[in-house]
Amino acid sequence: MLTTNCETLYAELMDVARLYGDIPDVAHYFVHSGDVFFNMVVVGGREYRFEERQPYAGEIEFKRYARRFAKLALYKALSSETGKEMPWGALTGIRPTKLAYSEKERGNDFFPLFKKFGVSRENAELVADVLASQEGIYAKEEGRADLYIGIPFCPSKCNYCSFITADINHTGKYLDGYLAALGEEIAACKGLRRYTSGYIGGGTPLVLSEEALARVLEAAAKILPAGAEYTVEAGRPDVFTEGKLALLKEYGVTRICVNPQTFCDATLGRIGRKHTAADIYRAFEMARAFGFDVNCDLIAGLTGESLAEFSDSIDRAVALSPENITVHSLCLNKGAKLKAEESRLFVEDIGKMIAYSREKLYAAGYRPYYMYRQKYAAGNSENTGWTKPGKACVYNVDVMEEISDNVACGANAVSKRVFFEEGRIERIASPKDIPTYMQKIGKIVADKLQFFA
Ligand code: SF4
Repeated sequence: MLTTNCETLYAELMDVARLYGDIPDVAHYFVHSGDVFFNMVVVGGREYRFEERQPYAGEIEFKRYARRFAKLALYKALSSETGKEMPWGALTGIRPTKLAYSEKERGNDFFPLFKKFGVSRENAELVADVLASQEGIYAKEEGRADLYIGIPFCPSKCNYCSFITADINHTGKYLDGYLAALGEEIAACKGLRRYTSGYIGGGTPLVLSEEALARVLEAAAKILPAGAEYTVEAGRPDVFTEGKLALLKEYGVTRICVNPQTFCDATLGRIGRKHTAADIYRAFEMARAFGFDVNCDLIAGLTGESLAEFSDSIDRAVALSPENITVHSLCLNKGAKLKAEESRLFVEDIGKMIAYSREKLYAAGYRPYYMYRQKYAAGNSENTGWTKPGKACVYNVDVMEEISDNVACGANAVSKRVFFEEGRIERIASPKDIPTYMQKIGKIVADKLQFFA
């Protein structure tokens, strides 16, 4: 159990404690005097004391440093107590690149700060490579936005999935009403911002019939400028048809995601997919025939998957030579059918899987161009998007670095407004549940217009 005399630090401290799994009782104490931050951690009967002198300007900065030093103190105490160091050290935030950018904006090299936090040299270098890949793309600009459209329907539910998406066999009855509400919301977003990219995600957008897909594409076409980067998360290979890809092409889609997650048929069956590796190859061929840029998603740590099977998937994806490959670490949020305890058995090799993917992708000429972490990621690892030179997906960079507004439409869609001057972000979320989204669409649209006014 973790206790602290400063309740506002509890959640951040728990993020660090969680890295260590089952830990004995830990007591944390924080006091400050002027610009001196003092933290004490008592664990295993030993006291660890830390003192940092850090000037700050205002309450926001004070809180930031208080959180930072408290986490660092707990991490140092626990790593000393257990003899275990973590690949990201005491950094528990989901966007290490943002911390690196903020250091750069202050004119500092970020490596010393990462080192102080116990981040491994390899991970600090990964962040440096991501920043290098984002040169020429990373642009903070008022008034610009990316458009997101959510299609929360899938052909079946994968066992690790925690999205609100559901099997279309159960939710298909809502499809017509959902598309009507979605069309209304998209139309209302016309001219809200200057859109620089569009993204139709899910779910599995290509689970829609051609007619239904055309409704969504038609609505988006009325507000997206011609020539904008336009991505559709086509998704699982079992739903690809030439007719659907022809429609995407006709409506100016430039990039599609083919998401195999693994090329191992046994794993595909275990996670609840209804397709095989052969379908993945067929989907790739189709995507190429239509001239799309392709993003391919893989997951390290899937149920029962060995290091050899994961490595084989990486090799096969690289051999297909998509423009982007995203390597995720399995993440089991609330809502996933697969329970965390079950998956733990299979993730011992996760660090080796991620290391293999990095080595292979660098060697094949890919470079990391965005990365983020998730709280419940297997092995405390990260998700990294890799790109061939000049082929980075701008939408992904915008979203991960939070450098533009995001106008998001659909059930469970979260719109985001970035206030650059004030250094803050506001969000507004639509209802997760499809029937509620349909019922409340009038209010959702009104709230959104006000949010972006
Ligand atoms: S295809 Fe993706 S969104 Fe659909 S159930 Fe599987 S993981 Fe979830």
